[in-house]
Amino acid sequence: MTRTALVVGGTSGIGAATVRRLAADGLHVVAAGLGAGESEVELDLRTPQALEDLIGSLDRLDVLVNTAGIIKRGDEHRPEVFREVVEINLTGAMRAAEAAHDLLAASRGCIVNVASMLSYFGGPLVPAYSASKGGIVQLTKSLAVAWAADGIRVNAVAPGWIATDLTAALQADPAASERILSRTPMARWGTPDEVAGVIAFLAGPDAGFVTGTVVPVDGGYLSM
Ligand code: NAD
Repeated sequence: MTRTALVVGGTSGIGAATVRRLAADGLHVVAAGLGAGESEVELDLRTPQALEDLIGSLDRLDVLVNTAGIIKRGDEHRPEVFREVVEINLTGAMRAAEAAHDLLAASRGCIVNVASMLSYFGGPLVPAYSASKGGIVQLTKSLAVAWAADGIRVNAVAPGWIATDLTAALQADPAASERILSRTPMARWGTPDEVAGVIAFLAGPDAGFVTGTVVPVDGGYLSM
């Protein structure tokens, strides 16, 4: 039986790399998010019920990957912006998990969430992003414990600084880029494929006894 994966936020960056990797590993993969291309599903988490309807339309689900995320640098102290970022980054992952629970229980499947270095460090310009990513760690652990008896594993990756659209402004700013690279032991930006590889591991049979973990993919950032 071909395993099926849904990547929420699979239309660019880390999510798109995960779609490619899981497909190469032989899974049937549904990629959903904004700006969907031909073989992808247009999904806006701000549209009520759209996520639940998409998951409800699936016959089978073995792997749910929650990568949808936004960041509003410098604007997140405003309560309405704070709410929007948390809604997409954290509540979106919870909604997807809840909607997928029965399908995942039926397949003894798994969830991989995407946390961040800002799950661990405060972000003065991005309090909502940091709060949402701290929340992703606790959500991951909570669902792992709650659903272990249902046969569902729940893990997360915590990417360091990865070259995607989300970090394009920082990559283009020489001073910001220098600050990031000098703080990263491996002294380079990570690639979306490097994160996708760890997501694929957590989603695969080699991680069969792994649940409730958060794996950094950060070039050593957390170690320094
Ligand atoms: P990205 O901007 O390329 O991808 C973000 C994805 O989220 C896109 O597929 C987009 O369609 C989706 N998305 C955003 N708003 C949405 C909405 N309203 N409805 C549905 N989908 C929506 O950036 P990325 O770097 O690939 O980010 C993927 C994840 O990785 C995010 O959760 C991000 O917080 C996390 N992350 C990224 C980095 C990094 O350095 N790039 C570091 C740590 C964590």
